Parts: sequence; C-alpha cells; structure tokens
Amino acid sequence: MGLVVQKYGGSSVADAEGIKRVAKRIVEAKKNGNQVVVVVSAMGDTTDELIDLAEQVSPMPAGREFDMLLTAGERISMALLAMAIKNLGHEAQSFTGSQAGVITDSVHNKARIIDVTPGRIRTALDEGNIAIVAGFQGVSQDKKDITTLGRGGSDTTAVALAAALDAEVCEIYTDVDGVFTADPRVVKKAKKIDWISFEDMLELAASGSKVLLHRCVEYARRYNIPIHVRSSFSGLQGTWVSSEPIGDKKVEQAIISGVAHDTSEAKITVVGVPDKPGEAAAIFRTIADAEINIDMVVQNVSAASTGLTDISFTLPKTEGRKAIDALEKNRAGIGFDSLRYDDQIGKISLVGAGMKTNPGVTAAFFEALSDAGVNIELISTSEIRISVVTRADDVPEAVRAVHTAFGLDSDSDEAVVYGGTGR
Ligand code: ADP
Ligand code: ASP
Ligand code: MG
Repeated sequence: MGLVVQKYGGSSVADAEGIKRVAKRIVEAKKNGNQVVVVVSAMGDTTDELIDLAEQVSPMPAGREFDMLLTAGERISMALLAMAIKNLGHEAQSFTGSQAGVITDSVHNKARIIDVTPGRIRTALDEGNIAIVAGFQGVSQDKKDITTLGRGGSDTTAVALAAALDAEVCEIYTDVDGVFTADPRVVKKAKKIDWISFEDMLELAASGSKVLLHRCVEYARRYNIPIHVRSSFSGLQGTWVSSEPIGDKKVEQAIISGVAHDTSEAKITVVGVPDKPGEAAAIFRTIADAEINIDMVVQNVSAASTGLTDISFTLPKTEGRKAIDALEKNRAGIGFDSLRYDDQIGKISLVGAGMKTNPGVTAAFFEALSDAGVNIELISTSEIRISVVTRADDVPEAVRAVHTAFGLDSDSDEAVVYGGTGR
C-alpha cells in the first residue's frame, strides 16, 4: 500500500461546496488503495481577513498572539474536511500542526521546521483513518508556543510530512493546472510545464511564483521528494517537480523555464552613507538583527566631492516598518543622512538552467524590456536567473513582453484559472 500526501490550498476549500468536492477526491485516493495524509490551508482568503482584523486591533501585534490567531484558519478547514469525509462513509481524523509533530524554531510568523515526529499520524493511518493536518503551523521546540511558517507555508508542511512519512509523492492541489511558464493570471498564453527540475523551480519560487513556496521546494530537494502540482478542479496531469524526469517520458530540460514576477517587495534607500569600510556591514547587521531577510542590494558610486554614497536594498513590504524603525534607531551608529521608502516597485525574473550555456539571454531580456518601454531600476543575477526591479505598474506588461520575446507563448489553449482571488 502506498502512502500519499495531498495538500489542498485555500482556493480549493474556499466554501462548503469546495470542501465537499475535495473530500470526494481524497476518498478516491483512499479507495485506490493508498494511505492518505491531507494537509489543508485556511478557507479562501481567511488568513488575509484574520491579518486585517489583527491590524484593526493593534498596528504591531505580538508575534505569539498573531500566530495563535492565524492558525485558527487552518483549524476550521481541517475539522470541516474531516466531517465531510466521514459523511462519505470513510474514517478521518484532524490534527493541528502541533499534534501532527511539526516542531519548529521560535521565530514567530516565519518559523522553520526543525523536526517532524508524526507518531499520531502513523497511528491514525494504521487504524484505517485518513489523516487531515492543519497546514502552515507548528509548535516551537523550546517554549512550546504555537508558530506559523510564513505565508503559503502549508506547502512546506506537506513536503515535510511527506519526507517524515516516507511518502511516494507529495501532491499539491491548487487552482491552476500546474506550474506554468508565467503566472496564468497575468499571461493568458502561459504554457503548462510537464516537468521542471528542483533547481529551476527553486529560482521561480524565490522570484515570486507563489504556486509553490520556496522553502517547500528547498525541503523537497533536500529529501528528494517528488512534487506533483495539479488542479483540484480538473482531472488533468499537472507538473512534476523532481531531480530527474519521472517515468519513461524523455523530457528535455528547457533553456528557459519561465518568467516570474513579484510585487510584494519594497525598496529602502539609505541616503548619504560615508564611503568607507564597515558602513554596509553596519546597515545589514542592523537589518539582520531585526530578523529581516533582504533580497537585492545596490550601492551607488560615491560622489567624489562629498565622499558619500547611497545604498538601496529590497525586502518584503511586510517588513518595511520594522526595517525603517531599526535603521532610525541606529542612525547615529551607522551614520547616514536620510531613508527613502518606496513600495511601488515590482520584480521580474527570467529563470532557466540553459542560461548558463546560451550567450545573449541577458541581452535579449533587456531588449524585450526596452521594447516595452520599461525602465530598469535594479538588476541582480544568479547562474540561472536574471531579475530586474521596475515600477510596479509596469510589471504585467513587462512579464508579457519577456514571455513573448523568449518564445514561451502557447499557440493553443488559454491557461485556465479555476478559482481563487489572486490575493
Ligand atoms: P493555493 O491557495 O492553492 O495555495 P496560491 O494562490 O498560493 O494557491 O498559488 C496558486 C497561484 O499561483 C495561481 O492561482 C497563480 O495565480 C499563481 N502563480 C504564480 N506564478 C505561477 C506559475 N508560474 N504557474 C502557476 N501558477 C502561478
Ligand atoms: N493560510 C496560509 C496563507 O494564506 C498558509 C497557506 O495557505 O499555505 O498564507
Ligand atoms: Mg499557496
């Protein structure tokens, strides 16, 4: 008997109908002779609504209480899903992250999983149950407080459980038919990818393709867990994410896997920094001590007359306030004139392992952006990715232009988005 882990995202369980539809699908997997573990997200936009609610009560809620609040969303869907499955005549039991043995560090709002001890899940399965686990949450190892894994974290819960239970596959069910060459909400002519390597998927996820969370792909690569991303609304085969193509299909590694975009970041410019050793260190130590992850960094040439320079970096908008406060607090220690905050930026990234060996990819990328009249503010590259920062308003047009320029447009079906609000 095989063991499968299935994860259903918020758009798949947005309402009672959705929960009943998903319950039928889960029962099918069980009837096919599998042991089934299901990881479920909060219904629809519940998490966003809970965040809005918290902000109305307190502008900077304490991490511990914020996590306690957010985990309620997944508890609602796990219990309802277990009820719906029982209603179909099958045994199901729901478990919180803590009950399922998801042990994390104690960094609230973005905790990392450090161990998974799924004893209760094993027992439930051995007793013939379908096990339903609340995604996106765990319990901290030291303080035994409830933690959350960061937005989209149910993907990580699913892969972590798949690894701990030695599952054959981790299926991620969502509102599109798989991983596409661009977000189907932005590029109607995006193509579904049949297979993508962990490496390219990691870069796409890190660059904003939220169909899979970056940490989830990292985890899957480390434990070599194949992921099948597919729609809960259709019966179609989706996208396999694995180290090697699955089955007897000989799939060629694409030169370019896709175009990702991200409008969730902001840019901070530290203006008038003395151009001497230790300055960048002081700025980024301050940011690191506030437990904020940054993305791109650029330093301008210093003006010869003043010996001062500007340093800009990007970070999640959600960390903007915290970063500005931390830098202001350290203004005397670092030494700078002023801070500028800009949250009207977007990032566009082109990803593909073929970039390494195909000269001209960077040039063609910049040409496509220039033809679309898009101005570039920051640039960063890795071996298999080029990213630029532009005005947020330019992002949709820029993504489509790059997608077309690299021959990624499909000439047949338009990509389907089955549900969700894209929030
Ligand atoms: P879920 O609620 O199932 O977790 P998410 O909203 O987190 O779903 O992720 C699915 C969404 O990811 C899609 O609706 C789509 O808009 C977006 N997306 C972004 N980039 C891509 C891509 N390259 N391929 C597929 N979907 C993408
Ligand atoms: N409900 C959480 C969120 O909206 C976790 C998830 O859906 O993966 O971010
Ligand atoms: Mg998601």
